[in-house]
Amino acid sequence: MTETIQKPQPRPTADTKMFWDSCAKGQLVYQSCQKCGRAQFPPRGHCAVCGSDRIVWKKSAGRGKIHSFTVVHRPPTPAFKEDVPYVIALVDLDEQFRMMMNVRDTDPHKVTIDQRIEVFFEPMDDGIFLPQARPAR
Ligand SMILES: [Zn+2]
Repeated sequence: MTETIQKPQPRPTADTKMFWDSCAKGQLVYQSCQKCGRAQFPPRGHCAVCGSDRIVWKKSAGRGKIHSFTVVHRPPTPAFKEDVPYVIALVDLDEQFRMMMNVRDTDPHKVTIDQRIEVFFEPMDDGIFLPQARPAR
């Protein structure tokens, strides 16, 4: 019996479908509250700060800097065995929201706090394109 080991994959919901649809088109988007002006991620049906449901989608330029990161040496599941060592980072996008992403296309041990990154989209199964970071060019 052949067992395929798959990585966990995002499952779009009613709240996140717009986000994933945009990623598939190569555009990072985020939510902005029309009442208090805060940007938020992940997407949800109301503002996490003021509770308003006056939420609109905005385009992100897909650029930001690394707030914090860790280098993973021990794969969390066998699906990640080929990937180690890899970087998981909290990225502060220039539009004032924070996302967790892998940092690719770089030596994991050369990643630094405040390093400038740009977002790109990694194709996965089922039409999902996962936002990932790489050093800004
Ligand atoms: Zn708000």
